[in-house]
Amino acid sequence: MLNIRIDSIAQRKEKPDSDKLGFGKYFTDHMFIMDYAEGKGWYDPRIIPFSDLSLSPAAMVFHYGQEMFEGLKAYRTSDGKILLFRPDKNIERMNNTNDRLCIPRIDPADALQAIRTLVDYEREWVPDKEGTSLYIRPFIIATDAALGVHVAHNYMFVIILSPVGSYYPQGINPVKIYIETEYVRAVKGGTGRAKAGGNYAASLIGQQKADKLGYAQVLWLDGIGHKYIDEVGAMNVFFVVGEEILTPSLDDGSILPGVTRASCIELLRSWGYDVAERKISVDEIYEASKNGSLKEAFGTGTAAVISPIGELNNDGDIITLNNGKIGPISQKLYDNLTGIQWGKKEDIFDWTLTVR
Ligand SMILES: *Cc1c(COP(=O)(O)O)cnc(C)c1O
Repeated sequence: MLNIRIDSIAQRKEKPDSDKLGFGKYFTDHMFIMDYAEGKGWYDPRIIPFSDLSLSPAAMVFHYGQEMFEGLKAYRTSDGKILLFRPDKNIERMNNTNDRLCIPRIDPADALQAIRTLVDYEREWVPDKEGTSLYIRPFIIATDAALGVHVAHNYMFVIILSPVGSYYPQGINPVKIYIETEYVRAVKGGTGRAKAGGNYAASLIGQQKADKLGYAQVLWLDGIGHKYIDEVGAMNVFFVVGEEILTPSLDDGSILPGVTRASCIELLRSWGYDVAERKISVDEIYEASKNGSLKEAFGTGTAAVISPIGELNNDGDIITLNNGKIGPISQKLYDNLTGIQWGKKEDIFDWTLTVR
């Protein structure tokens, strides 16, 4: 159990208009911080006013990128309760990322207590308009003021909160995806399965290229042969081919194991669908498109939940999926997941946790 001290802001900020939240633009009044020193462990858990951090310019995070983050949401139900969606999964993944980046683990019960206490303290910031939620961003940085590449001895664990709008104010629209054949995001043995800021730094160039060509996201291929599909932007990816649903397997460690991905697989199997986690080549998907068996494709992630794919571009070879419209399986997953998250549908898997 953490003994969290609270230093409250004198006057709370005015809340933003819930129609104009967007994503990650506004932050709540307070944040959670806990420090780590080797030999001492994690110490001084506190909730303090949201403010700038003070770090040495020599802090190791600035030079060697020893940083990890997580992302989850708190949802307000129609009867005013606040729900978290599978926070244990995010915390487990946080510690897996920590292991890969040589960052000390945090006791899962302490991490959950920190998230719950902060969200509860900021509960008036959880918006109630349809489709809106409070995005929770925990992260850890190496703070040693020392140059020279080594594992840091000091860290800071921070949680900030941001009220966010509906990802699809106009309803779910399929997006156009550019298949990246030059740059790669991750390789076997690398950090693909870790939620590390460095992975994003390396992916920006591909995203920039896609943007210029009018595509919403990049489809990343395996880092060795540029043949097999890994994931799309910051989302995992699924294809409906014939009677089967395919998603890349996590075996090579180059894919981020999404909580939304795992939840979709469980839901689909509970509805009787065949879901195969295996290697999927771009050629196989293009072949399925040509012979008419490719029915839908979609990305999955906390931010958008389900993001249908309307078009794929592989070096100028363009295919359209489901006539550029959302398919029935994408829609069913979206309705059920969001239904559980906002407490509108029965939580048969016991996925949600009430904040208080
Ligand atoms: C966070 C993330 C996802 C989605 O994970 P969720 O837990 O479903 O939000 C997928 N891919 C990458 C690269 C990510 O960083």
